[in-house]
Amino acid sequence: MSRPGAELATPFDAASARRFLGKIRLPDGAGGCWEWAGGSRSKGYGKVWFAGAMRWAHRVSYVLFVGPIEAGQDIHHTCHSTMCVNPWHLQSVTRSENVGEGNRWRNGNGSVS
Ligand SMILES: [Zn+2]
Repeated sequence: MSRPGAELATPFDAASARRFLGKIRLPDGAGGCWEWAGGSRSKGYGKVWFAGAMRWAHRVSYVLFVGPIEAGQDIHHTCHSTMCVNPWHLQSVTRSENVGEGNRWRNGNGSVS
């Protein structure tokens, strides 16, 4: 299974960060979803060329705004909008929590971030 971004632990360059930030559609109000406006997507999730590889946009956002993603951690969307890259809507969970809970995760419509 290809998991772009899983290995993103090294410092990234400014050009990559600038390209990423330029593809986010910010909401008018506070607290809304940051819609990924980049063209690339797969399985309902945004993708972006970042720091030398194609990566999941929400994982890049997490690394940029929150910090490194530990090995084996999935990034879960608490807002259930898979195209959202708002770091406040992203939560690092263990893979078993995310996948094991299946469709019952937080009463939600199971996401597999
Ligand atoms: Zn959101």
